[in-house]
Amino acid sequence: MGFARAILKLTPTLFTILFLLLGQPSYGWGLKEEAIPKSYWFKSHLIENVVNGREIRYAVEIKDLESFPEWSIRAQTEAALRLWLEPLQQAGIAIPKIVRVSPNDSKLDLLVKIGPDPIIWPGRNAAAHILSRPSDGRLYSLVAIDPKVAVDFGGGKKICAKDSRHYIRGPEKSFSERLMPAIKRYKSIDNWAKQVGESRDLLWNSTLPKLIHEIGHSFGLADTVSQAMLNQQSRPDLQSKTHGEGVMKKADYLLPQEDDRNSMLQLAKLARGAAIQCVKAQLDSLISKGQ
Ligand SMILES: [Zn+2]
Repeated sequence: MGFARAILKLTPTLFTILFLLLGQPSYGWGLKEEAIPKSYWFKSHLIENVVNGREIRYAVEIKDLESFPEWSIRAQTEAALRLWLEPLQQAGIAIPKIVRVSPNDSKLDLLVKIGPDPIIWPGRNAAAHILSRPSDGRLYSLVAIDPKVAVDFGGGKKICAKDSRHYIRGPEKSFSERLMPAIKRYKSIDNWAKQVGESRDLLWNSTLPKLIHEIGHSFGLADTVSQAMLNQQSRPDLQSKTHGEGVMKKADYLLPQEDDRNSMLQLAKLARGAAIQCVKAQLDSLISKGQ
């Protein structure tokens, strides 16, 4: 009796402890420092298009069109953009239209380059950067994949990036329609490898996972591979303490995971909040001038 009463008395405390143990979010987020609204670089990140309701204008530039046909890279780029916009759409945020333009377009937001590029670090075959156009200084996102640079998987195994279209089963004609359902079906690189009977490393190093990861950077997300790497790209107030698996961790997924989705929502929240504050400040200054 005494024991039961003690347990009853302790119940709220036990619930609190349980809540603290289980109720804490197990996901994380990591945002790039340059993607914060006050930064000079902010306007070059794709989250800005979402916040300001501007369409996302992208172009592709391909060196070897035989190995990487334009229709294939275009479909993969659009799928990658949609995957990152999905969590925002589900949160009720209006998402921008995706429009393909020429690399010389005066309002270009994202350039996807397949071929050698001086911005790619030695030994790596993919990168995302913010560049300024020499002609007018306009900032844009660049995602580059260099299929000539082999990635060393250890044990003498070196692989160059291949077009992922080879590993999405079905006729070429319907590739762009089949791509998104395939991504949702495969989810992770391991599962994809199992389902199509190809090597995991070959798929991991193919264009689609690279585009999805690098375009995540173009929106404003940081790598969460390790705390050290995250600290390099972010600030303590732009990152959470825990980091689950995800596209921005080891690029082991095609489908953005909870960690990735949460990062996008954090990014939108930060950017939107700042935009609202900015409008409010403008209004305040107008009102005070009027007086
Ligand atoms: Zn990265």
